[in-house]
Amino acid sequence: GGDADGDHVAFYSQDMNQGMQERMRIESGLRHALGNGQLLLHYQPKFSIASGKIIGAEALVRWLHPERGLVPPAEFIPLAEATGLVVQVGEWVLEAACAQAQQWKQAGLPPIRLAVNVSAREFTSALPGRVQETLVRYELEPTWLELEITESTLMHNIDRVIGIMDRITALGVTLSLDDFGTGYSSLSYLKRFPIDTLKIDRSFTTGIPSDANDCAIASTIISIAQQLKHKVIAEGVETVEQLAFLKSSGCDEVQGYLFARPLTAEAFEQALRENWQQ
Ligand code: C2E
Ligand code: CA
Ligand code: CA
Ligand code: CA
Repeated sequence: GGDADGDHVAFYSQDMNQGMQERMRIESGLRHALGNGQLLLHYQPKFSIASGKIIGAEALVRWLHPERGLVPPAEFIPLAEATGLVVQVGEWVLEAACAQAQQWKQAGLPPIRLAVNVSAREFTSALPGRVQETLVRYELEPTWLELEITESTLMHNIDRVIGIMDRITALGVTLSLDDFGTGYSSLSYLKRFPIDTLKIDRSFTTGIPSDANDCAIASTIISIAQQLKHKVIAEGVETVEQLAFLKSSGCDEVQGYLFARPLTAEAFEQALRENWQQ
């Protein structure tokens, strides 16, 4: 009766309270992490299918927590997006990726493109200026940098978003459309976006070659990209069968555990040297 319901409510709100406390703990921890050098980047190579060469890398953020060890972004980026802290995380990531690119450039490594993930909340009119200022400060050609944006970024205010995209691409920095096919972007908008590359989401790559729908979606994305004169990359490639399908379908680039996991800066540098000596 009433007692049981009361207990139920009390139990529930205590549960919610714990969830909130957990979120606040992570948020204050992340603020502390930003100020105390606990964030780091790993780099996952991107390969040209035609040449087999590493043509770039995706910078992926990690949090080296003093007690919890290496915390993956799935455990703090969604929260950072909800609280707005992702803007500061994004500033740190851009800075760190450009610093690393400068170091590799000065070490005489082959020129590659480093891709940085940008969340919708970072995609403001302040972004192009910040990108330009950062490139200048690190004496980097814009061809070293790419921004990966997701479809949700494009859903807000199309004209405003296109204005920001145009200012970024005018710098010579390329844009790729991440997790393509998982959102709701209309194909009629797609042609208006100054996008360099479409990125096939891992959820589709995973089903290749056994799932006929995933194969159809992947090859359709490839053909849309070709017709719109965009490059196309598949993420999450784990098997030689997936690679064979993507290659025969005309995909340009691949990224995934079949080739390399996200690597520390040192391991990526070594992989890049070896790959270019082959
Ligand atoms: P994403 O942008 O879709 O990044 C690809 C994720 O797939 C990475 O996970 C990567 O490690 C993983 N992955 C790559 N190849 C394979 C594969 O062959 N198999 C499997 N199972 N997984 C693969 P990660 O590093 O945990 O990042 C997760 C997500 O966190 C990213 O998804 C991205 O949305 C977000 N993220 C990471 N770094 C940043 C960042 O600096 N800023 C922002 N805003 N988001 C970030
Ligand atoms: Ca990405
Ligand atoms: Ca994805
Ligand atoms: Ca992705």
